[in-house]
Amino acid sequence: MQEYVTDAIVLSVHPRGEADRAIDCYTEQLGRIEVRMIGGRKPLSKLSPHCDVGSLVVIRLVEKNQFTLIDALRAMPSRILSPAALRVIGLIRALAPKGVSDARLWEALKRVVCGSGESIAVFFKLLGYDSTSASCEACGENPVSLFSLPHHEFFCDQCGARLPESDIVYCS
Ligand SMILES: [Zn+2]
Repeated sequence: MQEYVTDAIVLSVHPRGEADRAIDCYTEQLGRIEVRMIGGRKPLSKLSPHCDVGSLVVIRLVEKNQFTLIDALRAMPSRILSPAALRVIGLIRALAPKGVSDARLWEALKRVVCGSGESIAVFFKLLGYDSTSASCEACGENPVSLFSLPHHEFFCDQCGARLPESDIVYCS
């Protein structure tokens, strides 16, 4: 059984089973991983309040078939995420592979959740997509203005207008 202590940023949290939660997070040491929070759905869970989407936390984990959260501590005060930070988190959720650590992606994500600006184009590049030279999947137009999260395709303003708002990220 391996134990880790690493900084992490919470990408999403969802229920798992009757009492637990699963946390999708991007960690400094291990890249993107899913961590099980035992008892995370119980009202008195002491770890749950630290793990809102976008929070920067120091986590202690053990790995044995899966990662299990042992401890979590907020590394900065709770804050309302900017729309820009939420877009970046959505993009990372859609595109970052699990179990691959990337120091540049980690540093850029940390800057964003800590409130300093970082253009979304930087994240497209770090995740292997070039929004500046991409052309629209439907009509071939360049420049593109949005990206479909479920399909991993770029679209121009006009063609992208038909896509549901929850499925898209604007490129600038
Ligand atoms: Zn188009």
